[in-house]
Amino acid sequence: MNKPAATLFHHQKGIAIFGSTGSIGRQTLEVIAQNRELFKLKLLTAHSNHKLLAQQSILFRPEAVYLANPESQIELKKILKPYKIRVIDHDDELYQTLHQVDLHLVVLAIVGFAGLKPAVKILEAGKNLAIANKESLVVAGKQMMDLARKMKAQILPIDSEHSAIFQCLMGEKQEHIEKVILTASGGPFLNYSSREIEKVTLSQALTHPTWEMGKKITIDSASLMNKGLEVIEAKWLFNLNPDQIDVVAHPQSLVHSMVQFTDGSVKAQMSPPNMQGPIQFALFYPHRQMSALTRFNFSETINLSFQPIDLKKFRNLALAFEALKKGGNMPAILNAANEAAVAAVLKNELPFYKISLIVEKIMSHAVFVLNPSLDELEQIHFETIIKSNELIRSIN
Ligand code: NDP
Ligand code: MG
Repeated sequence: MNKPAATLFHHQKGIAIFGSTGSIGRQTLEVIAQNRELFKLKLLTAHSNHKLLAQQSILFRPEAVYLANPESQIELKKILKPYKIRVIDHDDELYQTLHQVDLHLVVLAIVGFAGLKPAVKILEAGKNLAIANKESLVVAGKQMMDLARKMKAQILPIDSEHSAIFQCLMGEKQEHIEKVILTASGGPFLNYSSREIEKVTLSQALTHPTWEMGKKITIDSASLMNKGLEVIEAKWLFNLNPDQIDVVAHPQSLVHSMVQFTDGSVKAQMSPPNMQGPIQFALFYPHRQMSALTRFNFSETINLSFQPIDLKKFRNLALAFEALKKGGNMPAILNAANEAAVAAVLKNELPFYKISLIVEKIMSHAVFVLNPSLDELEQIHFETIIKSNELIRSIN
C-alpha cells in the first residue's frame, strides 16, 4: 500500500521540468498526475510547443513557465493571460527563478547539447537533478559531477540503463564494482547485414522495436550511437574506467543493465520497457512508490537473450569508446558531429548509414584539447556543428 502523503513527505515536493513537452517530459507529468498530492509543480519549460505547454500549465498550475523560442513565447503569453501563471521572458530570469523557488528536484528532459546550460545552472543553484539529457554528461560530465559535489546536489539518472545500474549499486561499495554491463535493444537493425543497413529509409530508422521516444534518440538507438553516449554517461555517473564498461545486445529490453562485482556475482535490474518506471524511481528516491505498471508473470515463459554487438557494423559504438578513451574534448566532438548528422538524416539530407562516416571523419580531423573549460566546450560544439554541416553538404 502507498503511504499517505503526510507520512511519506513532510510537505509537497517542489518539482521543475525542463523539456516538459517531450516524450520524457510528458511521461514525468503522467507520474506526477498519479501522485498529485505529493508534488507541487513549480516550473515548466520547453522550446516552441506553446500549445502543449499551455495545456500542461492550465492542468498543473505551475508558478512559472518558459519557452526558449521567443515567437512561441508570445503565443504562450496570449493563451495564459487569464490564468495566474508567470511567463518568464529571458533565460537569465529562468535561471534566477531556480534560486528563488523551493525545489526538491529538477527533471532535465531537454534533448541534445541544449541541455548542458540548464544542467549547469540547475547544479549551480544547488538543486537535485533527475537527468534524462545524456548529451550534457557526454560533453561535460567531469564539470557536472564536480559541480554537483561542490554544491551538494544529487544527480539521479532517468536513462533506464543508468537507473538500473544505480539500483544495482544501492548498498554496494565502489571498490567492489568489477564492471557494468549496459544492455542495448540493438534497435531495428541489430540483425541486418551492413549492405541491408545501407538501404535503410528514414521511416524504418524511426520505428523502434521496444521503446517510444523522441525522434533524435530513436535515430541514435537505431545507429547504436545512443548506446555509445550511454557508455560515456555511465563513466561519469558511476566514476568508472572505460574498460569497466561493457555493452551487450538484449533485444527484449527487460534487463535494463547489470553490474558485475569483484566476487563474480552479477546483479541485474528488470522491469517492463516503460520509462515511467525509472522516472518514478528518480522522483521518489529513496522511497519505492507503488505503481500500476505491468508486472512480470513468471509462470509464463519469458525469454531473455544476450548477444554481442558487431562493432564493425555499428561503428558509432566503437567511435564512442574511442572518444571516451581519448577524453578531453573528444566526446563533445563525437556528440556535436552526431547531432549535426542526425538533424540531416531527419531532414532526409543524409542517408541513415552515413552518420558514422560523418562522426568518424570529424573526429579524425579534430584538434585535441585535454582540459577544455565549459566555455571552450560550447565553442567546440558550435564549430563542430558547422564543420559537420559542411562535410554533409560536400558528400551529397
Ligand atoms: P523529445 O524530442 O521528445 O523532447 C525534447 C524536449 O526538449 C521537448 O520538450 C522540447 O521542447 C525541448 N527542447 C528541445 N530543444 C530545446 C531548447 N533548445 N531549449 C529548451 N527546450 C528544448 O525528446 P525525448 O523526451 O525523447 O528525450 C529527451 C532527453 O532524454 C534526450 O537527451 C534523450 O536522449 C533522453 N532520453 C529519452 C528517453 C525516451 O524514452 N524518450 C529515454 C532515455 C533518455 P519542444 O517540444 O517545445 O520542442
Ligand atoms: Mg537508455
